[in-house]
Amino acid sequence: MKLVCQCGTVNQFSIEKLDQTPKCGICHQNLFTGEPIEVTSERLIKHIEHSALPVLIDFWAPWCGPCVNFAPIYSEFAKTTGNQLRILKVNTEANQQVGIDFNIRSIPTLALFLNGEEKGRMSGAMKLGQLQQWVVQQLNG
Ligand SMILES: [Zn+2]
Repeated sequence: MKLVCQCGTVNQFSIEKLDQTPKCGICHQNLFTGEPIEVTSERLIKHIEHSALPVLIDFWAPWCGPCVNFAPIYSEFAKTTGNQLRILKVNTEANQQVGIDFNIRSIPTLALFLNGEEKGRMSGAMKLGQLQQWVVQQLNG
């Protein structure tokens, strides 16, 4: 299976290694840090195209109050999902093209991708329980 490191390297390893704290072959950091990975638009595409796991993206901006309030909930979610999801966030102010490319009309917007395909999208901040439920629904729907 493939996963993209926060350094941008596409790592390939056997699925059994997923539970053994896989590290990046290039920068040697853990592939799972328990925190959302902040990405640029270029890295975002790389994750969507190469991740063997579902990719969850928070489209946000520093000037957006609800986005800032949602950040700790999103971090908490990243801690609880361990190595089952790829949890990303992209600053739409610093990466303005990404908002256009992904047709983001309001923020925060959450989008979930699996095998390069968008499985679901939700605008507006959620509580932790809602977020967990929403992700499960998108993956099973
Ligand atoms: Zn790396």
